[in-house]
Amino acid sequence: MKIKDITTFLVILAAIILPVACGQNASTDQAAQGGEPGETAQIDPICNMKVFPSNAKASLEKDGKNYYFCSPHCKEEFEKQ
Ligand SMILES: [Zn+2]
Repeated sequence: MKIKDITTFLVILAAIILPVACGQNASTDQAAQGGEPGETAQIDPICNMKVFPSNAKASLEKDGKNYYFCSPHCKEEFEKQ
């Protein structure tokens, strides 16, 4: 096999492998946004967004219950109530 042939082979191989590798990275990122595996989504009481405790922007314990918020702003709104 000539060197040029090997280069062409590697380019084709990369073209096949890279999109798959990128796809795996994308799904890993989505999993991170969705919280830890097996984690239950909580509902932000202000905007009703799903929030995972592991990546909530803010949280608050009130009357023995934990509340999770998508943003510090929602936590502020909740504290005003
Ligand atoms: Zn919110």
